[in-house]
Amino acid sequence: MDTYARFPISLTRGRGVWVWDSNGKRYLDCVAGIAVCTLGHSDGRLKRALSRQLGKLQHVSNLYRIPEQEELAAAITASSCLDRVFFCNSGAEANEAAIKLARKHGHTVRGIATGDGKAPLILTAQASFHGRTLAAVTATGQPKYHQGFEPMVQGFRYFPYNDTAAFEALLATCEVEGPRVAAVLLEPIQGEGGVHPGNRAFFRRVRELCDAHNILLIFDEVQIGVGRSGQLWGYEQLGVEPDAITLAKGLGGGIPIGALAVKASVDHFRPGEHASTFGGNPFACRAGLTVLAELERRDLLSHVQRMGALLQELLAQLVSRHPTLLEGVRGWGLLQGLVLREEAPSAPDIVKAAMGQGLLLVPAGPRVVRFVPPLVIQPRHLRLAVDRLERALLSRGR
Ligand SMILES: *Cc1c(COP(=O)(O)O)cnc(C)c1O
Repeated sequence: MDTYARFPISLTRGRGVWVWDSNGKRYLDCVAGIAVCTLGHSDGRLKRALSRQLGKLQHVSNLYRIPEQEELAAAITASSCLDRVFFCNSGAEANEAAIKLARKHGHTVRGIATGDGKAPLILTAQASFHGRTLAAVTATGQPKYHQGFEPMVQGFRYFPYNDTAAFEALLATCEVEGPRVAAVLLEPIQGEGGVHPGNRAFFRRVRELCDAHNILLIFDEVQIGVGRSGQLWGYEQLGVEPDAITLAKGLGGGIPIGALAVKASVDHFRPGEHASTFGGNPFACRAGLTVLAELERRDLLSHVQRMGALLQELLAQLVSRHPTLLEGVRGWGLLQGLVLREEAPSAPDIVKAAMGQGLLLVPAGPRVVRFVPPLVIQPRHLRLAVDRLERALLSRGR
């Protein structure tokens, strides 16, 4: 079905940070399947680990214990502030699990009754992105994604991201007649909504208020988690510990996997309350285990910190060369957004022109061009990417 306005190229092959289309044209890939291909394309270690797993076992049901799943859960919990993990297959699905957990927290911990318009509420940010299933898209604070699919799911309220006063006011309003709010769901950095990094003071205040009211604080780390920020987990950038995080994109390095990781204190699910047929199967978990092992073995976190700083520097230089077209650059690690002025072509137009120059980029809204390359990208690739972007900008600029 026509759910995507697709570019008229077919990508048929990839290696490292490069992909080739069916005509043999080569592109430098700064999209990585939208922050998915952590280790780049056709990584040798990932290929071998998955081939071996294919020769052993791909799928059994969660009716049985799955060693690869237990090992991946242990790797996530040992390296984070979280204690227990539920596995699924995508970001939206991870957020669905988080939303169900939040509802249960509201009922059982906060004692919020249902009925008389008193159901538990989940507070999310404007310009957020949490996925396209009905509850996840309702959580997404962007009306354009709701349009045509009403009625939306009940029980969500929105506030401007990074706005402490607005958050405090909304919380006070919701709680005026007693406990009403089950959870706050936030991206540590907004990706799709325009690459807006979270503000530390704002997040600290949200954490304080959630603690004071026993409200669940959930971070959607589907895009920023698993090393993209230069820290393993996005919350480490903020110095605030969430009660739960959701993961997906980068975790499987291209193999679909999603996860909800929670603190033991909010591990509210009991057998039979949530489930997934494919979630956490041996093949997907082998992919996750290999990605996490390679991040460590190749010291990719410090690499991402260096490459992120270099990319930011190169983009800042680009901005200073084209001050009438470009406004600035913002982001963490290898999630960076180049902000365009009104005088510049739109982000989708620049992305299209960059494709002509052999560079893959993705917009984050109409005025931001997003870089989310494989974490293994090297300095020479970043320089080439910014050169090609500059050529694209000039070919489309006034
Ligand atoms: C991509 C994304 C999602 C949705 O993930 P899917 O796997 O497409 O369902 C959710 N949250 C964030 C922050 C994302 O970037």
